[in-house]
Amino acid sequence: MAQLLVRSGYRLSEDPRGAEVIIVNTCGFIGPAKEESLQVLGDLAAHKRRGQLLIAAGCLTQRYGVEVARQVPGIDGILGTRRWMDIVDVVGRLRDGPHPEPLYHLPEAPEVGRDEGGALRAAVQGASAYLKIADGCRRPCAFCAIPLIKGTAVSRPMDAILEEARELQRMGVREIILIAQDTTDYGHDLGLRDGLAQLLEQIGRAVPELEWIRLMYAYPGYVTDRLIEVMATHRQVLPYLDMPLQHAHPMTLRRMRRPANVAWVHRTLDKMRGAMPDLALRTTFIVGYPGETEEEFQTLLDFVNQVGFDRVGTFQFSFEPGTTSEPLGDPVPPEVKQERYSRLMEAQQRISLQKNQALVGKTLDVLVEGQGEIENSRTGWQPVPTKPQPISIGRSYRDAPEIDGMVLIEGEAPVGQIVPVRITGAMTYDLTGVVETARMTIRLEDLSTSTGSFKT
Ligand code: SF4
Repeated sequence: MAQLLVRSGYRLSEDPRGAEVIIVNTCGFIGPAKEESLQVLGDLAAHKRRGQLLIAAGCLTQRYGVEVARQVPGIDGILGTRRWMDIVDVVGRLRDGPHPEPLYHLPEAPEVGRDEGGALRAAVQGASAYLKIADGCRRPCAFCAIPLIKGTAVSRPMDAILEEARELQRMGVREIILIAQDTTDYGHDLGLRDGLAQLLEQIGRAVPELEWIRLMYAYPGYVTDRLIEVMATHRQVLPYLDMPLQHAHPMTLRRMRRPANVAWVHRTLDKMRGAMPDLALRTTFIVGYPGETEEEFQTLLDFVNQVGFDRVGTFQFSFEPGTTSEPLGDPVPPEVKQERYSRLMEAQQRISLQKNQALVGKTLDVLVEGQGEIENSRTGWQPVPTKPQPISIGRSYRDAPEIDGMVLIEGEAPVGQIVPVRITGAMTYDLTGVVETARMTIRLEDLSTSTGSFKT
């Protein structure tokens, strides 16, 4: 939306107080996200200047447009997520004249529009970029509101994705993170077989200088042998997979309307680890799903201890009206959800620490994302601004941005570069290390020979 507006002559404003139009892109996925969206809208509406326009866009308004406008007096425009590309028109209509009532732009649309107006569907953060390959979802998960919000899955044309990957490479991006509600479903509507594997191969060819391609949100059951082969044999594709499993008890999974073949999960993980011995596995689970018994939860806990995931995200079940699980209600008491959440997280913390400790002494490539100051105390790394020691912060192939761990590097490493780091310490989620200068020097010398322009 920002890109389309800028292309139409609008300027971005750093400060909502100075803006003529304020647009809030809301989230309507689970309860806490809805509350946060309403809170932000309420704050902005309360401080709105005369003549200023407030537009609520995104998933929450797609689902509950009228209610959002009713709960937050002062909203001028409502735009759903399926027609985000109409933002310029909506802003124009609002600026044309007074609107005593909110302007609703929620046309009937069965899915997210394919007419993207040439917007780059990537969010760039430093040297990384999330690149959207599809939108919407056609899976039947009983707890999930996303298909209600977004409609069925729509794959973006491969040519458009490749062109955007080239553009990101030109911008100096080092890591592309492919996202969709379900990346493994990529291309089914384009008539592609193993579309995600094909896409990975094509991206690798299109951007040979780009170092890292990371894959998120792989739906269990659709990680094919072909996909595993492409991941294992293409140097740019990181040996990292995020496969949200949601549970490990077949009965819970059936009630969730998720793939319940746990034997398939074990087989596939074995295959993947056979093909990629350094594979970093991330998953997410829901605890407190309706009807989850202590025995079902214990099965999940045993599964987590047995598989040894590198990363686990856990959510407490959030009741979503309108989903297929609605008739099941929300019978698991909050304190039971909380207790199961804590037990699962504690189990995973032990595993995570062991995995991190096993990396001490090894060298990992790390994408440096920032520099700061820290105190290197005997008890660990504690941010203390008064006793500064320069450190750099980055991520290895095992860490997706924002949700996984970090590597804290002693000294000042070059931001935006991938450098070899020898791991010297391990914490539950993060690692510490030092840049391996020997390997760095060799790399710089290589460059200086090949280009004649580098001075070390
Ligand atoms: S695959 Fe993910 S986005 Fe799609 S319905 Fe299931 S949980 Fe929701």
